[in-house]
Amino acid sequence: MPIFEYRCNKCGHKMEFLEKSGGKNKHSCAKCGSSDMQKLFSSFAVGKSSQGNGACPTGTCGLS
Ligand SMILES: [Zn+2]
Repeated sequence: MPIFEYRCNKCGHKMEFLEKSGGKNKHSCAKCGSSDMQKLFSSFAVGKSSQGNGACPTGTCGLS
């Protein structure tokens, strides 16, 4: 299941969500509760493998 990173447009808080493919998911900010979330195309989607680190199954290790 892919993990997508979202940023809250209201407070700027970043979160990651698991999403089922094809689903239209509504997410809410864990910090301020706003549903105005913007999907980010994180390094997970744009070729984390180029770093040669195969030890991270989710591609999100090392992100803080
Ligand atoms: Zn927020």
